[in-house]
Amino acid sequence: MSRWLTDIRGLKLSLLLIVSAIVILAYVVAIRAITMPPVDLSQLVISTELAQRLRAHVDYLASPELKGRKPGTPGNRAAAQYIQEAFHQVGLEPLTSLGGYGQTISPALGDNLIAVRRARSPHSKERWLLVGAHYDHLGESWGKIYAGADDNASAVGILLETARATEPLTHYSIAFVAFNAEEAPFIRTPLMGSQYFVDHLPVEIGSPGQLQAVIIMDLMGGVHWEPLRDVVFAAGAEHSPGLYRHVTHLHEAQDDGQGLMVQPIGMHVIEEIPVLGQTPFSDYDAFRNASVPYLFLSAGRTPRYHQPSDLPDTLHYERMALTVRWIHDVLLNIDQDPHPYDFEPHRIELADEVATLRPLITKAAAWDTSIPGTSPASLLRLKLDANWLATLDPNHAGSDDITRLEHASLRMQCLLGDFSGCFLL
Ligand SMILES: [Zn+2]
Repeated sequence: MSRWLTDIRGLKLSLLLIVSAIVILAYVVAIRAITMPPVDLSQLVISTELAQRLRAHVDYLASPELKGRKPGTPGNRAAAQYIQEAFHQVGLEPLTSLGGYGQTISPALGDNLIAVRRARSPHSKERWLLVGAHYDHLGESWGKIYAGADDNASAVGILLETARATEPLTHYSIAFVAFNAEEAPFIRTPLMGSQYFVDHLPVEIGSPGQLQAVIIMDLMGGVHWEPLRDVVFAAGAEHSPGLYRHVTHLHEAQDDGQGLMVQPIGMHVIEEIPVLGQTPFSDYDAFRNASVPYLFLSAGRTPRYHQPSDLPDTLHYERMALTVRWIHDVLLNIDQDPHPYDFEPHRIELADEVATLRPLITKAAAWDTSIPGTSPASLLRLKLDANWLATLDPNHAGSDDITRLEHASLRMQCLLGDFSGCFLL
C-alpha cells in the first residue's frame, strides 16, 4: 500500500516538473515569438544626399579611431577638430570674444564648440537662438569601445547639417553649439559643457535673457520599435506657449502619416522618476534653470543605449534628414516672433501628452504590437495602464492622474531601453 502511495507521489512530482518546464518554455517562447520584431535595420536605406552627409558625420565621429570621444582624450579632440572644420566649411563664424570656435572648459577636459550665423537686421540689443547637442561619449572600458553613434554623433550630424541649411535670419542671430562633457561623471555638475556655457556666456550673448529660445538634441537616430520608427519626441516647449505653438503647428502640417512625426510630450513624463524625483538627463537642464525657453528633441533610448553596439549601422538617417528640415522650419518660424517667449517651468499641456502617449501605450500593451522583449508580466501591467488611459479625460485630470501618466510613460521608456525590472515600477 505505502509503495503504491510513493509511486503516486513520484508521478505527481514528475508531472509537476513537466508542467513547470512547459510553462517556462512557453513564457520564453512567448517573449521571443509573439512580441513585435524590432525594426529591420536593413530596410532603412539612404536615398537622399542629406542623409548621406549625416551618415558621413556619424561614420567619422563614431569611428573606432575616435575611441568613444571621452572628454580629455585624443579622440575627443579629434572630434572637436572635425566639428570646427565643418563649422568653417558651412560658413559659420567664430565669436570674436573667444578668438576661435573653442570655449575651453578646462585644459584637461577640452572645449565646447561655438559657431554663429549673425542676423541680417538684428534688434538693437542682439537676440539669439541656440541649437545645441553634446559631442562627447563614454570612451573605452574593459577593452570595448563605446562609439556613441546615436549618443550623440546623430545629433551633432543634425546640428552641422541644420547649420548648413540655415541662411541668416532677419531678427535673430543663431549660435550652433557642440557641447563637451555631457556624459557621466560630468552630467549635473558645473563641468558639464552646457552648464559651463550658461555659467560663462560669451559677451556677444551676454545674459540668458538674450536667448529667445534654445533647441537641444540628444539620441536622434535610434530605431527599435516599429510604432516609433518615424517619431521624434519634442519636450520642454510646453513651458513657453509662444514656442510650443510652432511645435504643434508644424506637427499638424506634417501629420499625414508620411515622413517625420514630431510628437509633443511633457518633460515631466520623461524625467519624473519614482523615489528619485526630477532627474534631468541632457543639456537642456542648464538653460531651463536659467529660465530660457527651450525645446528638447529626442528619438528616445533603444537597447543599444550606452552599449558598444551603438554603431553607425543602426541609425535611421532619412528620419534624421527630415529632422534637419523640421528644425530649419522652426527657426524660420521663430524669426517671425518679435517678442520674448514666456517661461513657466511648471506649465504642462496634458491633453497633447495624452494624445501622444495613449496610442503608444495601447500598442505597447497588445501582444502583436508590443515592444520587442516585453515579458507577459510587463504586458499585463501595460494593459492596466492602457485601460486607464482609455478613460482618462485630460480636462478633468488630478495630480494622481498626472503621477500615474508619468509612471506609465516611464514603464514604456524602460521597455524601449530594455532595462531589466521595468515592470516593477
Ligand atoms: Zn549618453
